[in-house]
Amino acid sequence: MIIALKKSIRAEEQEHLIQWLESQGVRTHISEGEFQTIIGLVGDTTRIDTDLIRGLEFVEGVTRISEPFKKANRKFHPDDTVVTLNGGTAFGGGAFQMIAGPCSVESEAQVETIARAVKASGAGVLRGGAFKPRTSPYDFQGLHEEGIRILSEVKKMTGLPIITEIMDISHLPLFEDVDIIQVGARNMQNFELLKELGRIRKPILLKRGLANNIKELLMSAEYIMAGGNEQVILCERGVRTFETYTRNTLDLSAVAVLHELSHLPVVVDPSHATGAARYVKPMALAAAACGADGLMIEVHNDPQHALCDGPQSLTPEQFDDVAKAVRKVREAVLSDL
Ligand code: PEP
Ligand code: MN
Repeated sequence: MIIALKKSIRAEEQEHLIQWLESQGVRTHISEGEFQTIIGLVGDTTRIDTDLIRGLEFVEGVTRISEPFKKANRKFHPDDTVVTLNGGTAFGGGAFQMIAGPCSVESEAQVETIARAVKASGAGVLRGGAFKPRTSPYDFQGLHEEGIRILSEVKKMTGLPIITEIMDISHLPLFEDVDIIQVGARNMQNFELLKELGRIRKPILLKRGLANNIKELLMSAEYIMAGGNEQVILCERGVRTFETYTRNTLDLSAVAVLHELSHLPVVVDPSHATGAARYVKPMALAAAACGADGLMIEVHNDPQHALCDGPQSLTPEQFDDVAKAVRKVREAVLSDL
């Protein structure tokens, strides 16, 4: 980090600032120029509050040279992290997975039908929401504990590992048999939730917030990792823009940027990104082509009667078609990835 000081700074102010910075555990390197003095900070600057320094009247500007995320940073961990579930299903480092299933768990028969179909099409993980973050309190909120019980039952029947969303840390004991805990877009910056998830040892799929940038996504991953849980999968699910033809705008460049900045696997969710079943296939193919480590796709056996997100849900037949095409794209571009 570099701090540029105004020419008007008094000697005692400069001395005081340096003492304070060093008390924060960093070393300082001063270069006095003809017009400006620059302080270079050496060491771990993650705890230094740049806004606080920027607010000082004698400071001209503050520039971070290194990113504030450490654990998630590829600089300190050049190899891809491979997140491996208990049964051996892996994400990252060349391992690609399709996560598929309904938006919400509605009944055991529904989840079983969908699970068997998506497994036959090559899905490696079954999704299904039990706690649903709905905009309206009058909409279906999920089956809660019963929803997780159903997922667990279907996991036993099919052998598919399961992923479901957590909305409140007090529900954690219900997630014992869940293989990946999902943090939804609306909770990406629920820092207390992230801290608690850092204390457990279970893979977390962290979805990008509706209006969050890439750095904020990585800082949220850092919250989980700083607690010691390093099994984090990032998920790009589109961000809110001025566009209205799609539910969100899928930011596929985030896949390339995240792979450059971080060693964590990156999954793309074209269902929530587009909000329309007919756009899921082209976006899934594009995600596979740009190097995503997996896809999360909503599949429903009867989309027209789905209790949540029917318009963006694929039928099992459509999912089978997408899965086949994704495999072809991966084969075609694999040598280049
Ligand atoms: C979901 O995956 O069920 C979901 C609610 O997605 P998001 O958090 O991305 O909106
Ligand atoms: Mn959904």
